[in-house]
This record gives sequence, structure tokens and C-alpha cells, in this order.
Amino acid sequence: MLIYDLDFAALTQIVTAWGQPAFRARQIWTGLYKNFWQSPDEFTNLPLALREKLATELQFDILTPTLKLDSSDGQTRKTLFKLPDGRQIEAVLMRYDRRRTLCISTQVGCAMGCTFCATGQMGFTRHLSSGEIVAQVMYYARLLHAEKDVVTNVVLMGMGEPFHNYDNTMIAIDRLNDSEGYNFGARRFTISTSGLVPAIRQFAAEKRQVNLAVSLHATDDGLRGGMMPINKKYNVAELIEACRDYVEATGRRITFEWALINGVNDTPEQARKLAYLLKGLLCHVNAIPLNPTTGYEGKATTHERALAFQQILEQNGIPCTIRIRRGIDIQAGCGQLASRVE
Ligand code: SAH
Ligand code: SF4
Repeated sequence: MLIYDLDFAALTQIVTAWGQPAFRARQIWTGLYKNFWQSPDEFTNLPLALREKLATELQFDILTPTLKLDSSDGQTRKTLFKLPDGRQIEAVLMRYDRRRTLCISTQVGCAMGCTFCATGQMGFTRHLSSGEIVAQVMYYARLLHAEKDVVTNVVLMGMGEPFHNYDNTMIAIDRLNDSEGYNFGARRFTISTSGLVPAIRQFAAEKRQVNLAVSLHATDDGLRGGMMPINKKYNVAELIEACRDYVEATGRRITFEWALINGVNDTPEQARKLAYLLKGLLCHVNAIPLNPTTGYEGKATTHERALAFQQILEQNGIPCTIRIRRGIDIQAGCGQLASRVE
């Protein structure tokens, strides 16, 4: 059993079942989430017998880094981790200005099959548990802590579709949000979805403070359906309706993600259609040049075309930011692990 899979009540139950006083659970929780300890040996405030029990009964360090890549400017670190079952996931740390943003994974592979996405081209292997999601954050939290620094933002834009693994994703966010634990503010998370309409509706009903980003990439069903198979299940009209309802229910702004592909969706026509589609909606468009992948023919937009696209949106009252692909030299960049956050 992975220790990060446990909430505080479950941990307390286990520790007391071992015949230990309940306050030991609090000490372990503090060690994990406030001191960033990752091995039972580090819990020197516990009796040796309990440390040994922890080591034999629970798993701590389940993420084995197999590859660490730093971008040439040193601002971006991508780590490939091996899980106990041999599967691999990646998580990225991006440093810019005072932000320390983590981009983390929610699944091994992805079932959504977006044609332009490296993870989609891989297919789906399995969901990550809540603890496997939490562990990625704690890995980098510990790394930054050693440099007297802290994580400021977490985006669920790594491998996988977070809304396809809804419960584990929300449990992970709640665990990281625990005020007695890591105490990471809900508003500092961003979930990105390819547009699973029922999950967007559930998310709206839960009225969470977490930010929502929706990967749109095209305005018409023909084009979007060719890029994102999910569009055949939930089309553009249904998706935008769910987004409008979300904004109405929560009062929160939505971000729309748009990977600019040369000659495909970076045209003035697409920009005008997008502006029309989003009219009156509290939103923001994050446009980012496509990060080319081996399994997809499309090319990145040019700087000039990106600026023209942005200009049309802004002229029509839709705020739009052109993102640069950070850490492109380390493929961070597995298709999606580029910076698309503020
Ligand atoms: N599955 C979720 C979150 C992970 S993907 C989603 O699709 O939203 C994170 C973002 O990266 C999405 O906006 C996705 O469309 C985008 N993305 C995927 N492949 C890309 C590529 N090759 N170039 C640029 N963006 C890409
Ligand atoms: Fe999955 Fe997102 Fe990639 Fe689509 S873009 S295949 S939903 S990870």
C-alpha cells in the first residue's frame, strides 16, 4: 500500500491497529507533507520499531527517476519516473519569474487518442492512483524545499485525461489541499480536459476553486472531430454549452487551449469563428504553437500567423495569450508538457 494513497483517517486507523497511539499518525502526516520526508528512515521522531513497521507495511518512494532533462536555459526540468509496475510517467517543473509550476500526469497513456498528441498516440495503459498523483507533487516539493523554494502552481496537463480519472484526481487535489498537510491552495491547481461534458458538469456542480482549462483546438465538428475523437461523443455545441453553464454556476473564468497548427487552425477564418463561438463567455484563450510529434504531420504555426490569430480574437473582445514552448529542447514537449499557464 502506497502511503500517499491514504487519507489521514485511513493512516490513523492503520497506525492504531498496530497498537500505536493516534498521535503517531499526526507525526507521520507532518513528516510526509510538511517536512517532505520520503523514506521511513527520515522519521527520526518515531520509535525505531514503528519506523521499521512503516518500512515493511507501506510503500514510500514509488517514483524512480529514470531520466532527468534540464532545458538549456536551466528553467525547465523534466523527469521521467518509473512506477513499481514498470510503467513510466513524466512530470515537469517550470521556473519562470517567481512561479514554480509543476505539470503532472494523471494516467499512463491516454484513451482519448488526439491525433496531434504524443500521449494520445501511445494509447491508454492505466489510471494513476490518487497517491501516484500526489507523489509527483511531493517529489518536486522536496526538491524545491532543499533549495529553500516552493511549488506555486500545479497543472494537470501531463500525460492523461484527468476527467477520465475523475475520482482519483479530485482525491489527490483534496489530499494536497489538506490544511494539516501540504496545504496547497485549490486556486493554484489547473485541470485541463479534452472536453468530457458530463465531468465538466459534475465539476461545475461541485463548485471547486480549482481552475478549468478546456482543450478546444477547432470550432467546427469536422475539423475538431478529425483531431480529437472525443468530439464525436460530445460535439462543439454541447461542449460550449457545458462551459457556459460552468461559468454561470461558478462565476469562474475558463481557459481555452488552442495548439496552433500551420494552415489548419491558425487561419483568420478559424480565429473569427472562435471569437464568435466564445462571445460573451468569461474566458481566455491560450494559444500555443503545435509541438510537432512523430505520429502527426502538422507543423507549428509561425510567429506572424500566431500574432494575426491573436489580434483577431482581441479585436473581438476575447483575451488571448500566445504561449512560447518552454523547454522545447528537452521535449517537455511530450506534446503537452510545454508551458501553457500564466
Ligand atoms: N488530457 C488533457 C490534459 C493533458 S494534455 C487535455 O487534453 O486537455 C495538455 C494540453 O496539451 C492540452 O491542451 C492538449 O491539447 C495539448 N497538447 C497535446 N499535444 C500537443 C502538441 N503536440 N502540441 C501542443 N499542445 C499539445
Ligand atoms: Fe489525451 Fe489530452 Fe493528449 Fe488528447 S491531448 S490524447 S486528451 S493527453
